[in-house]
Amino acid sequence: MKRMQDRVVVVTGAARGIGAAIARRCAEEGARVAVWDLRQEDAEAMAKALQLSYGVETHGCAVDVASSAAVNAAAQAVLARFGRIDGLVNNAGIVADAQLKKMTEEQWDRVIGINLKGVYNCTRAFVDTFLAQQSGSIVNISSVVGVYGNFGQTNYAAAKAGVIGMAKSWAKELGRKNIRANAVCPGFIETPILGDMPKEVLDGLVNEVPMKRMGQPEEIAASVAFLLSDDASYVNGAVLEVSGGLTI
Ligand code: NAP
Repeated sequence: MKRMQDRVVVVTGAARGIGAAIARRCAEEGARVAVWDLRQEDAEAMAKALQLSYGVETHGCAVDVASSAAVNAAAQAVLARFGRIDGLVNNAGIVADAQLKKMTEEQWDRVIGINLKGVYNCTRAFVDTFLAQQSGSIVNISSVVGVYGNFGQTNYAAAKAGVIGMAKSWAKELGRKNIRANAVCPGFIETPILGDMPKEVLDGLVNEVPMKRMGQPEEIAASVAFLLSDDASYVNGAVLEVSGGLTI
């Protein structure tokens, strides 16, 4: 019996990067996976690939997590298709970096809308179902930046600190109903989100990591799978840093 056999897991931003690795890991462990991403063709392609590789039922859907209407419609589609939800991974996120003195309101609103409100939208859409089931696991993908801040990332740091606060609040609100909420804080992970960073900057960052390398999306996925699974049945309100020791 696989660890997530027949569980239903929704992963946002699952067409590429860390979200794709999480979706793959869940499917590999037997879960039925709903792949949410911005573009329908990307979400469907990932859902199809998971189905072919792991033989699990999947559903791909275009969702902008910043839109509560889109999220609510997609949540209804998941519940109509699978009838339940066991795991929600709030992974979708973007960056729009600038030092505070140059940050525009548009940059602030865009990052807060996706990285912070998006996490509220998705969890709000499923909370009644989680409560009715009296079971579930929510994992918010934060960042080391949400704990320690970062140069040029006022908006991103605010959102990533916020999703830790939300996870802890839900841990307190929902824990008695056997619904757990936790946050994962990745360090530098090799994904397209780092694509615009100059090589010398990346090399400098890697040098700060005690393990002297970037992390792989699969290494975040392994921690998320743990938190989704019954192996973490008493882990609630935790903030798990997966950074190769970056912040010590
Ligand atoms: P990524 O490679 O850019 O992937 C993000 C995915 O989310 C993409 O498929 C993207 O779609 C999708 N997305 C963007 N906006 C969305 C929206 N409004 N609604 C739904 N989906 C949306 O990023 P990643 O590196 O895998 O990051 C995943 C999460 O980990 C993010 O929350 C990020 O902040 C966090 N994180 C990453 C690192 C790192 O070093 N990589 C470190 C710490 C935390 P498109 O491709 O169509 O834009």
